[in-house]
Amino acid sequence: MTEKEITEKIIDLKNQLKDKITIPAHHYQNIEIVKLSDFIGDSYKLAVESSKTSAKYIIFCGVRFMAESASILAKDYQKVLIPNVQAGCPMADMIDLKIANKVYEIMSNACENKIIPVVYMNSYADMKSFCGEKDGSVCTSSNAKTILEYYFKQGHSVFFFPDYHLGKNTSNLMGIPQQQIVKVKKDGTLECTGDVKKAKLFLWDGFCHVHQTFTEGDIKLVKEKYSNIKIIVHPECKESIVKLSDMSGSTEQIYKIIKESPAGTTWAVGTEANFIYRMSKDFRDKVIIPLRVSPCMNMEKITLSLLYQSLQSVMDYDNNSGSLKYEISVAQEYKINAHKSLQKMIDIVSGKI
Ligand code: SF4
Repeated sequence: MTEKEITEKIIDLKNQLKDKITIPAHHYQNIEIVKLSDFIGDSYKLAVESSKTSAKYIIFCGVRFMAESASILAKDYQKVLIPNVQAGCPMADMIDLKIANKVYEIMSNACENKIIPVVYMNSYADMKSFCGEKDGSVCTSSNAKTILEYYFKQGHSVFFFPDYHLGKNTSNLMGIPQQQIVKVKKDGTLECTGDVKKAKLFLWDGFCHVHQTFTEGDIKLVKEKYSNIKIIVHPECKESIVKLSDMSGSTEQIYKIIKESPAGTTWAVGTEANFIYRMSKDFRDKVIIPLRVSPCMNMEKITLSLLYQSLQSVMDYDNNSGSLKYEISVAQEYKINAHKSLQKMIDIVSGKI
């Protein structure tokens, strides 16, 4: 089948399934997938919007941890699917329950404050559950500062994971001195220039290779080429890159800032390549280039053909003649506490608590 034929079949299935189906897509999805989705957003917006939908089937076009979050927040009658179950996230894989328990004990013994775990949305359900169990919260790049402030105000220290750079860049925004920050290595080593006993923030040593790739040389190059260029990057980039840029922000914030900038402005963007390409198409009155072309191969694992197969499986399942391809469900042992930590984030951000 050609791309055009697959697209027509997807539209046809969507029309037949009507309100029974909704298709959320992350900003990093290919432009063809975005065009067929019902709503787009970053991981926070998608989790919140997906939880409001009443559709029986949610086909989540993103990576697995995002579909898992949708499944945790879904109502009992809802089924969450992902077109390709292989769409993972190397950063989310950088910590698991066994390691988290081990380093949490080491940190708790070394620090005089109570340590609350805060996990970035880019993590699996077992890690969200680990946080929920200890009164911690999930956070995203758009609300990390708000979540950390919430716990600091209560006099607690925070274990932030898995992304070191988001934690470090957020700590810079909050003016936390380097001596109060501890880098937590996989073997349990605590690296600190100050007194660990009094440390405020423990940062896990994880990273996203898509964002960690940007260099000082990339910034120098675009500045040499375009005299009036503005540089905006995601806070998953290294601290040095964020400091050399004009601004940083979450995926939603980057989209909004560029959208609202005056016509004729030139932007170099340090984030995922598919997203930058789509912005360059959406905002043709501006020049938008990648700081360096850095695609997320896992996001690209969601293809038109797999979306079509997923939709067809929903149609068959709904007619009692097949099984769902691929349903995402979360182990019962993690569901309650993972839900608790996601809900905590929503409540803190909305000012409910
Ligand atoms: S962009 Fe990075 S953090 Fe996001 S899904 Fe891809 S690898 Fe994971």
